[in-house]
Amino acid sequence: MLWKQVFVLMFINFHLETIITALVSLHDFRKAFVELIHAGIVKYEGCSMKPAVIVVDMINDFVTGVFKSDRAAKIVPNIKALLDHARKQKVPVIYATDAHLPGIDPEFDVWGRHAEAGSWGAEVFDELKPMKGDFRVFKRKYSAFQGTGLDQLLRELKVDTIILTGVVTDICIQHTAADAFFNSYEIIIPEDCVEAVDARTQEAAMNFIRKAYDPTITSSEELLKKKWT
Ligand code: ZN
Repeated sequence: MLWKQVFVLMFINFHLETIITALVSLHDFRKAFVELIHAGIVKYEGCSMKPAVIVVDMINDFVTGVFKSDRAAKIVPNIKALLDHARKQKVPVIYATDAHLPGIDPEFDVWGRHAEAGSWGAEVFDELKPMKGDFRVFKRKYSAFQGTGLDQLLRELKVDTIILTGVVTDICIQHTAADAFFNSYEIIIPEDCVEAVDARTQEAAMNFIRKAYDPTITSSEELLKKKWT
């Protein structure tokens, strides 16, 4: 009977809409709930975040060396304050820094020589030197996850959320955010702890990251007010 088929189709259509609406609401509810937990307004043992701070490429070559940048130098105190706060709370601090192999790494064809493994340029910038208990991974690609063992390290530390800091927003930060998203980590970006070569690039990269990877965008000042675990 035709009316029965029409009824079944209407029924399925109605429920599909209900299911989609419910899924969207669940996603929004989860996000709102996680934000309340992050703000310290709601405490929920089973759902509290387990963060780590990732410091990307805050090395000599990106601050005062071959890619010298006043914009990178400007975010050093903000990152430093964040790292001190993290260490006090026993939140892991992980440095992910370029350590390129000359003659092998294709990145040199694009950008020229920089941050060669073992060189001064590849050392962490003085004011942000790693401290006892911090972790360090060395990368040869833009993403802090590529070939570094970072994913394994984060899993062993039971980390589910990364607080992403460093340079440069449109390349290594963006690619790290992509891999974090692909590997199902929550992403928090304090906007005053990441930088690009100029304001326009910074804004464009942040807009892309915001749109593509659904991070929580905040500031170091806001994060310093909160307990993270
Ligand atoms: Zn590089």
